[in-house]
Amino acid sequence: EVKPGNTVLASSISKKFLKEVDERIQSMVSIKPNGPLLVAFLANDDHAAEMYATWTGRTCESLGVRYELRKIDDKDFLEEAILSANEDDEVDGILVYYPVFGNAQDQYVQQVVSREKDVEGMNHVYYQNLYHNIRYLDNNQDLKSILPCTPLAVVKIMEYLKVYNTLLPEGNRLYGKKCVVVNRSEIVGRPLAALLANDGATVYSVDINNIQKFSRGESLKFAKHHVEDLGDYSEELLQECCQDADVIITGVPSESYKFPTSFIKDGAVCINFSSHKNFDDSVKTKAALYVPSTGKVTVAMLLRNMLRLIENRRKMAGN
Ligand code: NAD
Repeated sequence: EVKPGNTVLASSISKKFLKEVDERIQSMVSIKPNGPLLVAFLANDDHAAEMYATWTGRTCESLGVRYELRKIDDKDFLEEAILSANEDDEVDGILVYYPVFGNAQDQYVQQVVSREKDVEGMNHVYYQNLYHNIRYLDNNQDLKSILPCTPLAVVKIMEYLKVYNTLLPEGNRLYGKKCVVVNRSEIVGRPLAALLANDGATVYSVDINNIQKFSRGESLKFAKHHVEDLGDYSEELLQECCQDADVIITGVPSESYKFPTSFIKDGAVCINFSSHKNFDDSVKTKAALYVPSTGKVTVAMLLRNMLRLIENRRKMAGN
């Protein structure tokens, strides 16, 4: 088989970001002599979550971040455990491995985590800022907003792969790019489509029911993205959207799902954030750059978010 492009692993991409995190941690030793403390709650026996917990622990260790995995056997005690971490001045960052309850209660739990310690960027304020293309938490633009980790990881991967054109003004660096995102969950797919569209792309957001177009309109005339329904999901409509797509991003949580390789245009960038391989090996005959998984970059973003939260807290305290 012909393989005209390259496979780029999340482990290589994350190196660059972990190095930046490392440098920022070094520069913080005066205020955090023992290193920052990240507390993670695991209240399920999900395999992917446990793997992710292990990587997070290892990565933290290698960077001088204290990582405490708190396993909660009885889900009923999770909320109290989070509340006490919220109150604990020693704790710099909090994260929870989802799914916990596997239903809307998980959204409630997300909002229990204090906004100032929410390294995953799941607080409502952060999502709302993202959707409205608001990049700061304050009017003076001193405190940068936090972005949810996995959508942010995909953006950083696209910057690394030079899909973002740095010759364009910040905020418009995806102008002219067409992206397809197969997943529209509130955690990843919808915020990701919005982020890419806010940066100037035309995004086809695909879920099991329908396909929508996210964009800032002709000549990027709008300050934030708008959404248009294109129709019910069908393979034909998906294929049409993929025809000139520069980037195809998948996040289908199923072992058997495979994105049709024949829909990928020659030289497209393909990124999969699902814990299952949504592209089969033939993707390599089409993709210029293929990123088979993103988890390790997500971990780097989690730490990056934690440092930003620490900096924001310091600024708010006025020192
Ligand atoms: P979810 O179940 O909430 O959402 C799945 C989405 O995929 C929905 O929008 C659904 O409509 C869509 N979908 C399902 N089957 C489809 C099909 N055949 N065609 C088109 N769309 C389809 O899941 P989630 O929380 O978004 O997680 C998705 C995957 O991403 C999981 O595998 C999860 O483990 C992974 N994930 C990875 C990271 C990471 O950092 N890499 C982070 C979070 C989630």
